[in-house]
Amino acid sequence: MENKADIGLIGLGVMGSNLALNIAEKGHRVAVFNRTTSRTDAFYDQAGSLKDRVVPCHTIEALADAIRPPRPVIVMVQAGKAVDEQIALLRGALSRNDIIIDAGNANFRDTMRRFAELKDSGLTFIGMGVSGGEEGARHGPSIMVGGTEESWRRVEDVLTAISAKYEGEPCAAWLGTDGAGHFVKTIHNGIEYADMQMIAEIYGILRDGLSLSAKEIAPVFAGWNRGRLNSYLIEITATVLAADDPKTGSPVVDIILDRAGQKGTGKWSVIEAQTLGVPATAIEAAVAARVLSAMKGERMAAEAVFGRLSTQLAGDRKALLADLELALFAGKIAAYAQGFAVMDAASKEFGWNLPMPTIAKIWRAGCIIRSQFLGRIAEAFDSADTATNLLMAPAFVEMMKEAHPSLRRIVARAAEAGLPVPALSSALAYFDSYRQGRGTSNLIQAQRDFFGAHGFERLDAEGAFHGPWGSGG
Ligand code: NAP
Repeated sequence: MENKADIGLIGLGVMGSNLALNIAEKGHRVAVFNRTTSRTDAFYDQAGSLKDRVVPCHTIEALADAIRPPRPVIVMVQAGKAVDEQIALLRGALSRNDIIIDAGNANFRDTMRRFAELKDSGLTFIGMGVSGGEEGARHGPSIMVGGTEESWRRVEDVLTAISAKYEGEPCAAWLGTDGAGHFVKTIHNGIEYADMQMIAEIYGILRDGLSLSAKEIAPVFAGWNRGRLNSYLIEITATVLAADDPKTGSPVVDIILDRAGQKGTGKWSVIEAQTLGVPATAIEAAVAARVLSAMKGERMAAEAVFGRLSTQLAGDRKALLADLELALFAGKIAAYAQGFAVMDAASKEFGWNLPMPTIAKIWRAGCIIRSQFLGRIAEAFDSADTATNLLMAPAFVEMMKEAHPSLRRIVARAAEAGLPVPALSSALAYFDSYRQGRGTSNLIQAQRDFFGAHGFERLDAEGAFHGPWGSGG
């Protein structure tokens, strides 16, 4: 028994191989398997000083045999069919009380289905969201766990050991039953889409509205990273903008094709937000912007037909930069408010009781959206559990009051100059609609009643009413 592994891991791609090294480094013996066995051998050969804690296996049966029961096995393969295939194989090789942990970016609805399918199998299933990319997997990701609390207790030690730490606190937590972990990871990615898009929009204003070079923009972001926008994404933006292409010697961002990829988590965030009836306009705009970015040919043709507005933004440069910083901050507040509102609705819908302060806390380090700002969110949720929307938490009311005038000015100036800012303008429109006590849907209700006799409510009486428009249209 002595030499048996503590845990197994299937899938030695970018994430799996780094996670396995992380596990070994924290003192756990890990048995590894990969569909393509040459990759298992190559991984073992390159494991260096951690080799003696790695057990390479060429079959699932060998993997099962190498782990001390009850066996926890992390599956870190491509999301979708591959996960179902690995689970089917594991069902044949594992025994009662063993735990299968799907650590890929699963759609939480697949995770819920897998829970149901494994319910009477004697095996335990955990759906685990992991964020932090390659670097995070190797040195400490943020880990979002869904499953029974009992199953979490059984793997808590190893998961907290490999997770990122924020001032000593592990960025790993049990968030709720079945799909909770993968749902939270999906919304994390949705927020990440909005964050990245808004940063790109500000970059666009600096590049096209102020004619700054990548080299000139880099220190702007580096400066902002020392202030309220301090975050991993702002930090890497500065680094990326300063980097040169070894082939041409020009800034590498200038030779990268402006066509963004996506793998689905942004789209899932938007679909779930819509299904739950929660406005997540900044995330929606960010997903749509990636789709539009991929239509490079059509965009080139449209620019040839409509021309390009190239109005430069005039005025005091220092004041404009200060406005851009605050505009980005206001947009960020709205996007996070939306993401947390989606999680709140899902928590109620699926009975997860998601711990919002904990979610904010485990996102403070390790994950892609890690930032100082998440500390403020954690504090707000800790002190005002009852706030229906982050925008209404007292500290955020103050921040938004300070920042929204800048967002308004920047969106207005960008619109006049023909610079697209879809996520920032969606964030502004969301804020303005959210804080408008008397909106305009009285007219929509009148129209609906006119053509469909749907009825409307009155301000001055209870009940359902119809308008004086006769038979309608
Ligand atoms: P990757 O480098 O492309 O590796 C994919 C892994 O999946 C390989 O081990 C591959 O095995 C295995 N695989 C693919 N299809 C399979 C099948 N049908 N049966 C068995 N194994 C199969 O991917 P990755 O970036 O590590 O991502 C793994 C998971 O983590 C995905 O769900 C991804 O969305 C998620 N994730 C990725 C990141 C990131 O930053 N990359 C961050 C968080 C989460 P072979 O070697 O045999 O092809």
